[in-house]
Amino acid sequence: MLLFVATANPGKLREYAALFEGSPFDLVGARELDITLDVSETDDSYRANARAKALAGREASGLLTVADDSGIEVDALAGTPGPRSARFAGPGARDADNLRRLLTELEGIPPERRAARFRCLLVAALPDGREAWAEGVWEGRIAERPAGDDGFGYDPVFIDPELGLTAAQMPAEEKNRRSHRARAARALLPRLLALLARSPGFR
Ligand code: IMP
Repeated sequence: MLLFVATANPGKLREYAALFEGSPFDLVGARELDITLDVSETDDSYRANARAKALAGREASGLLTVADDSGIEVDALAGTPGPRSARFAGPGARDADNLRRLLTELEGIPPERRAARFRCLLVAALPDGREAWAEGVWEGRIAERPAGDDGFGYDPVFIDPELGLTAAQMPAEEKNRRSHRARAARALLPRLLALLARSPGFR
């Protein structure tokens, strides 16, 4: 069964393809379907943003669609940037700008006060109108300088305390075991399968 991942971010699509391996779904992204997703994330709630993207994706593709909204929450910044993580350095900010802004804001703050977490809200919109959702959280802390070349976004400054590595330093399989997206996908999959099992024609 085709599963449309409503994202234009190739890093995310790659991660979802690995996370849904072995499931009954064949994943396709916005680029493969030639769909332009133009949903502005104006809401302060991850779930509302993810849901808006999932519904727009279903509307555009007619397929079972999943969309996520994620962000990084830094304790020393009162839990910000949160749902505004993609726009932390301003409208149209690039990953590198956001990352620089985060390190600037945390300048002089010692490691023990740099606790942070990634959060991911994943929403599935079924073609028949039903929906499912799940949340995943990855606890860690913000590095004092970027390290590692893999991943995307804030990965080079997010340290997993157990491994002592940033998300950009660890192998992709390791990130896919630990990440907020992995946890959300693992929680969503059985819910989605249970919903689909009640649909005529799904095997
Ligand atoms: P969105 O969910 O695509 O809106 O992403 C929100 C922000 O969080 C963007 O700046 C992303 O780059 C960042 N982000 C989301 N997931 C990850 C991740 O797994 N690693 C690093 N940054 C991420």
